[in-house]
Amino acid sequence: MTEFDNIIIGAGPGGYELAATLAASGENTVVIERDLPGGTCLNRGCIPTKCLCASASALLSVSRAQTFGIDVNINGFDYAAAATRKDKVVDQLRQGVTALLKGCTFINGSAHLKPGRIVEVGNELYKATRRLVIATGSAPAILPVEGADLAITSDEALALTELPESITIIGGGVIGMEFASIFSAMGVTTTVVEYCPEILPPFDPEIAKRLRTSLSRRGVNIIVGACVKRIVRDDIGNMQVIYTGKRGETAVDSTAVLMAVGRKPVVPEGCTEAGIAVDKRGFITVDSLMRTSADGVYAIGDVNGLSMLAHSAIAQGRVVAEENATLFNADNVPSVVFTEPEVAQTGLISAQLQSRDIAYKAIKRPYASCGKACAEGYEGVVKLLVSDDAEQRILGISVLGPHAADLIAEATVLTTDRIPLNSVGARYIHAHPTLSELFC
Ligand SMILES: Cc1cc2nc3c(=O)[nH]c(=O)nc-3n(C[C@H](O)[C@H](O)[C@H](O)COP(=O)(O)OP(=O)(O)OC[C@H]3O[C@@H](n4cnc5c(N)ncnc54)[C@H](O)[C@@H]3O)c2cc1C
Repeated sequence: MTEFDNIIIGAGPGGYELAATLAASGENTVVIERDLPGGTCLNRGCIPTKCLCASASALLSVSRAQTFGIDVNINGFDYAAAATRKDKVVDQLRQGVTALLKGCTFINGSAHLKPGRIVEVGNELYKATRRLVIATGSAPAILPVEGADLAITSDEALALTELPESITIIGGGVIGMEFASIFSAMGVTTTVVEYCPEILPPFDPEIAKRLRTSLSRRGVNIIVGACVKRIVRDDIGNMQVIYTGKRGETAVDSTAVLMAVGRKPVVPEGCTEAGIAVDKRGFITVDSLMRTSADGVYAIGDVNGLSMLAHSAIAQGRVVAEENATLFNADNVPSVVFTEPEVAQTGLISAQLQSRDIAYKAIKRPYASCGKACAEGYEGVVKLLVSDDAEQRILGISVLGPHAADLIAEATVLTTDRIPLNSVGARYIHAHPTLSELFC
């Protein structure tokens, strides 16, 4: 049996960042990964989708060129070329991850847990003398309905080499809406079928509604309050998604169906025998230091279900490395939806403030009130939730509009430190004209 100070299972953003940090501080660290370095984020998630978002965004910009006095014609869109570019970006970044892990031992194989911080890979056994960290991530969840196997998941959607003629996306969450934005921009007839009364359930409902309106104007057919019952395929390969909604049982036709109904944890085999508890949804339970129920065993990232985002996985790795619970607080995690227009949110939303009995008021700043936004031809809104008192401390911010993803970085500082609204412009000088003036 080979001993290491630390064993990290999974080389996604949670695992690779933590492994690199521990190795850099001189600890003997091994990373066990059964697939490619980079995890879901790099290989099947954040990065490939953002490459396709960039292609979609470029297409939409060109189609709006006339607004700026430019006379251009779009002669076509080569999806295969966009997909090749995506693969190149992913390969390049994967080399970066491999370089980051050069101070660690890397084992390619599937980890099986044994009691006592022992891990089996093939016929070899490894023991962690300090920490065993489970960072095994998540996989697409599948709706238990008839014909579910006819649908593709985000994994297959990102591996397509040609576009379908039309697509029905089951699920109007972040992943579903990003694909809806990408596919519709590229000319695919796109329908979204969402179970909840509004898309993006964990976001500010007013902002989510504005996104729905905006995407509907771009031609995306969005059906909310619809419960999918089954998926069927006819003899020539066309698909039907059958759902019940306001008008009883209805069907949507398309040539492809994408299932985007959330993600389920990927828990390594042997967890129960190793004394690692999971909750009723299957996520590994952890305390604020990311410790599981087994001594010296931690779980970070998607597998613990606290916040299924790459930057949350990285932040939770820092909690483990520094044994400091304050380095991750789900209230302060920014979330971004890379649709066109973008949506981003940080701090608390109204439902959370109401459930915690915190008095607040909402202040809306339309992009139309900002010189830079007008100059660029941008539309959007910044919604600030502030304490309903003289201080007006900033508790939550939602943004819909171009560059929301970048604006949310400053917004996260403002909400994390509960900065009083009046001091934003007065104490922290913002360059003019910029979108960031919307916070002042
Ligand atoms: C389409 C899509 C788009 C996304 N976009 C964004 C985004 O824009 N921003 C964002 O923050 N998040 C995004 N996410 C979510 C993000 O990808 C995840 O939150 C993040 O990857 C979680 O990191 P992780 O380290 O916990 O796990 P993962 O990245 O899932 O990595 C886990 C790794 O563990 C390995 N593994 C699993 N079991 C074993 C085993 N038994 N032995 C060895 N290895 C094992 C897996 O092969 C995998 O490589 C997106 C996800 C998807 C699907």
